Amino acid sequence: MTTTAAPRPDHLSADPRPGAAVGPDAPGTPLPGERHRGGLAPAAAGPRDLPASSDALAIAGLVPMSSCDWPGKLVATVFAQGCPWNCTYCHNPDLIPTRTEGVIPFQRVRDLIAKRAGLLDGVVFSGGEPTRQRALGAAMREVRDAGFGVGLHTGGAYPARLREIIGLVDWVGLDIKAPRGDYAKITRVASSGAKAFESLDIVLAAGVEVQVRTTVDPTVLSDDDVARIRAELAERGIHHLVLQEARPDGTRPEYAEALLAARRAAAQPD
Ligand code: SF4
Repeated sequence: MTTTAAPRPDHLSADPRPGAAVGPDAPGTPLPGERHRGGLAPAAAGPRDLPASSDALAIAGLVPMSSCDWPGKLVATVFAQGCPWNCTYCHNPDLIPTRTEGVIPFQRVRDLIAKRAGLLDGVVFSGGEPTRQRALGAAMREVRDAGFGVGLHTGGAYPARLREIIGLVDWVGLDIKAPRGDYAKITRVASSGAKAFESLDIVLAAGVEVQVRTTVDPTVLSDDDVARIRAELAERGIHHLVLQEARPDGTRPEYAEALLAARRAAAQPD
């Protein structure tokens, strides 16, 4: 969403573009909190370890008022640039590239919430994948300090960062895209399922209110797959799953065609 045509991707969307998995935040690149994993020696403190300012947040779009991004709340929604995944149904592939700079300064968010005190309940950080960016925590803290609630839309691609910022979050909309072992069919990224379910466990352990949702992509997921997702959630005590219909708008043309073909096939009498 830009300020006019809001990116409505998030975790509803995808497009396999080579640039999506390149860069310092690409999958497999350790985040600060992940540096001890895999036997890596602790890194010396460097610029990447310094706290990031809210002004460093790369923002692709800002919707000043939304009643549908956090159930029951009136919010402003910030769309963070960049996502490490490449979902089949991504509705706004322009938000995927991680090297694309933001087009909206965080100052616009500051100015907006200063004007909307008493009118907005909170700010939702969406994307793209907002947990990709180190500046997210600082941005969330500013929003909280200004007296607003903080919502987060995430696919759970960066559990280490989620663990760092979950204490600043009041509500999470978490996408569970597929059964854990089948994630790459949607995201085109290996190990994405493990990260998403680790993120789910972090949210549950933190006791933060969460809405779990699945975009049902009929080019990939069957009814049995959705049943498997429900079973995996039930193991964690989650018995309510919001199902979202995959939509063709904003997706790559080949996906829109595949979606149409899948729907036609499903409508054929046996
Ligand atoms: S996780 Fe990333 S690629 Fe997938 S739908 Fe969301 S923004 Fe698009």
